Amino acid sequence: MIVVLKQTANKDDVERLKNLVEKQGVRTSVVVGTEQTIIGLIGDTTIIDPKTIEVDEAVDHVMRVSEPYKLANRAFHPEDTIIDVCGVKIGGGHLGLIAGPCSVENEKQIIEVARSVKASGANILRGGAFKPRTSPYSFQGMGEEALNLLLKAKEETGLPICTELMDTEHIQLFNEKVDIVQIGARNMQNYSLLKRVGHEIKKPVLLKRGLSATYEEWIMAAEYIMANGNPNVILCERGIRTFETYTRNALDLQAIPVIKKLTHLPIIIDPSHAGGKWWLVPPMAKASIAAGCDGLMIEVHNDPEKALSDGPQSLRPDKYDSLMQDIKKLAAIFGKEYE
Ligand code: PEP
Ligand code: MN
Repeated sequence: MIVVLKQTANKDDVERLKNLVEKQGVRTSVVVGTEQTIIGLIGDTTIIDPKTIEVDEAVDHVMRVSEPYKLANRAFHPEDTIIDVCGVKIGGGHLGLIAGPCSVENEKQIIEVARSVKASGANILRGGAFKPRTSPYSFQGMGEEALNLLLKAKEETGLPICTELMDTEHIQLFNEKVDIVQIGARNMQNYSLLKRVGHEIKKPVLLKRGLSATYEEWIMAAEYIMANGNPNVILCERGIRTFETYTRNALDLQAIPVIKKLTHLPIIIDPSHAGGKWWLVPPMAKASIAAGCDGLMIEVHNDPEKALSDGPQSLRPDKYDSLMQDIKKLAAIFGKEYE
């Protein structure tokens, strides 16, 4: 971080500012120019908020030269992180192929879908139990009962299970029953939840991108989880809000190379919540693999017309199967493996 002082700044100002930042644990190097003086901050500047320095009357402006995140930063961890979910690897050339219904609705539905996505090659089962719905009148999920049905489906198929945690009161339950804990787009900036998840969740966390989150805000949300003790974070791009209304959201494929450049964490793509239409899912899923993602999360329903949530964006099992045939070919072309 570099602090550029105003031309009017004097020696006392420099001393005051040096003391201010050195108290926060960094070293300083002062460069006195003919026109302007600058103070370089050396060391871990992640804990320093540039705004607290910028308010000083002697300061002209403050520039960050390194990112505010450390644990997620590729600069300090050049190799890809590979996350192991009950033997299924995600990242570093391994694809996590997550599929299943938006919501668990009953035993027959989740078992049927689990069997069919497994047969098509999925290696992780999804299914919402606690649902973050826009309307309080919409189906809110079956709660703990759904977790038990997911466990039955896991017993039947051997697929690890991924489902969304919305509330800290369910942390213990999720530690007991769930293999990947999803934090939904709407909770990406729920910092008290992120802290508790970092500290108390003992399973990998799938962190969805907020509806209007920048890359830095998203990575900082991952940093919250990591800084509180859980390093096993998988990022999931699920579409962002734009001016377009034809699609539910806009899939940001650039997120794949950007996240890979900035961080060492795996990034998976959810084309279902991005487009909001089932026929957009196969082309976007294939494009995502070509762009280098570490996996896909795809909504599959055995009877989308009657689905209690997100039917319009859900693939029927036969459509998912033919998509997976293509995904397998693309995985071979791009040198990706999947368990
Ligand atoms: C979901 O995965 O069903 C979901 C609600 O996702 P998002 O948080 O991305 O909207
Ligand atoms: Mn959904």
